[in-house]
Amino acid sequence: MGGKESDVVLLDEKGIRCDGRTVNQTRKVTIKAGVLKNADGSAYIEFGDNKIIAGVFGPRDVHPKHLANTDTGIIRCRYHMSPFSVTERKHPAPSRREIEIGKVLKEALKPALILDKFPRTVVDVFLEVLQADGGSRCAALAAASVALADAGIPMRDMVSACAAGKVADTIILDVNNEEDQAGQADMPVGYMPNLEKVTLFQLDGVLTPDEYKKCLETAIIGCKQVYEIQKKAIKDKFFGDGENQ
Ligand code: ADP
Repeated sequence: MGGKESDVVLLDEKGIRCDGRTVNQTRKVTIKAGVLKNADGSAYIEFGDNKIIAGVFGPRDVHPKHLANTDTGIIRCRYHMSPFSVTERKHPAPSRREIEIGKVLKEALKPALILDKFPRTVVDVFLEVLQADGGSRCAALAAASVALADAGIPMRDMVSACAAGKVADTIILDVNNEEDQAGQADMPVGYMPNLEKVTLFQLDGVLTPDEYKKCLETAIIGCKQVYEIQKKAIKDKFFGDGENQ
């Protein structure tokens, strides 16, 4: 959310956005579970033009050992953008932004996980962004949840994720990169639909109290839609869609 002046019409007079969507429409989301042979659980997500692979390893021994907790398992999360994931080459070393996103995603996943049966172990979640187009942390979070379920990690619920935001003084669902750069607000949300609990909440931009409420409600509607696609990915993996068998 840069709030920069832009030549792009973010919302036309018919209520159509720069990528042809209506205000309440998410981008196309597809998820496939179990895409990596060497991971305990994995998932590939396309969330619009975001393309992300999630790999889960564990529960396994913690290295370095001093990080181990004798009462419970722990989770670590690495979010990494490939050098070719954005238009300008991104330096492969982890940036401050990637480290921050890894941390918020870890915090967003933690409430869903039941790790007390795995003391002294770690569950490692690796998120590799192959292509980013705004909303990559939400896409990564949704993929991570599916990969954790694929790995058989006990969970209270799957965390789903979707952003909402504001362009042209209007609340919109699922902010793309252009809307993020030139729009007025971006609110990524992680949500556990069965438990009705928000696990990720960030806001870049300024909203009135009414807009804030509407934006959060809109993001949660998006999360519920993404949740259905996450569940289908798991069902397809374990009960078969004819392709994953
Ligand atoms: P999110 O992807 O979760 O929306 P940000 O709001 O930080 O996270 O980033 C928005 C978008 O900006 C990203 O999805 C990506 O398309 C683009 N972006 C992020 N980092 C870079 C970078 N280093 N170079 C170019 N574009 C970037």
